[in-house]
Amino acid sequence: MKKRILVTGGAGFIGSFLCESLINDGHYVICCDNFYTGSEENLKNIYNHKNFELLRHDITFPLYVEVDQIYNFACPASPIHYQNDPVQTIKTCVHGAINMLGLAKRTKARIMQASTSEIYGDPEIHPQNESYKGAVSIEGPRACYDEGKRCAETIFWDYRRQHKLDIRVIRIFNTFGPRMQPNDGRVVSNFILQALTNENITVYGKGQQTRSFCYIDDLVSGILKMMKKEEFSGPINLGNPSEISILDLANEIINLTGSKSKIIYNDLPIDDPQMRCPDISLANKVLGWSPRFDRKGGLKKTIKYFDSLLKKGLIS
Ligand code: UDP
Repeated sequence: MKKRILVTGGAGFIGSFLCESLINDGHYVICCDNFYTGSEENLKNIYNHKNFELLRHDITFPLYVEVDQIYNFACPASPIHYQNDPVQTIKTCVHGAINMLGLAKRTKARIMQASTSEIYGDPEIHPQNESYKGAVSIEGPRACYDEGKRCAETIFWDYRRQHKLDIRVIRIFNTFGPRMQPNDGRVVSNFILQALTNENITVYGKGQQTRSFCYIDDLVSGILKMMKKEEFSGPINLGNPSEISILDLANEIINLTGSKSKIIYNDLPIDDPQMRCPDISLANKVLGWSPRFDRKGGLKKTIKYFDSLLKKGLIS
């Protein structure tokens, strides 16, 4: 049945793919974004679609719309962006969650919170499953995001208990693909752009820290399955458990691009997690979901995307 669906952060990397999928499934989508990190360019495939509506709005302020479902995806997610204005980041997480839950309460909409692997902090168990409580710095530079997202989860559970809201909580691990922002400082976009322009590849620390990268199409399919699932609120990990060290990732991207780049070593940022890998057995069991794209396949598509931006002169 056709639904009216609000996607906050809908002009962002993940949000825009989500809006597109929902429109392709025949729904009416209201995309809300303050364009701090999102862009209209991300929406060009659906901008003029009759089932698409764009609102410039910051979710730290209340929003009054009539909807059947809400995907709360608004928040800068890359460390350089969320650390640029930490107070606004925590307001987006906390005030934003309260405002969107208030909207869900009034409209009786099912609401999904885009939580994150960052709520596990610098984890002591490996891989991370949903029952792990995390090791998060309270006052460090990542805390505005990590603790903000933890608090948002808490508020979601409280609204469920107290007001019987129909919530969904997903924990998104590192995700990559076309439409990542070229300047967001994330490892995949940095390394690909450095490799394509034969600049030095900037590995932070010794590059022994690990991450597990999920291709965007896989993530979106997991998100949609979770929203459709009845009688299950989560939390649930969504990510690709194929783990790689950052140094190995640098070499993989050099090989895939045939680049002449050299690897250089810069300081490791404060509180940079040493390892991260999702245990996705719950998603597999409850949703029948697991990623289909391997990292190399996803990287090839992402390299092609950044290469075309460079060739069109859209980034320098
Ligand atoms: N990283 C790196 N070089 C870069 C950008 C990032 O070595 O140019 C490292 C970073 O220190 C971290 C990992 O890559 O250990 C992933 O960083 P990203 O910002 O992409 O994601 P997050 O730390 O939030 O997982």
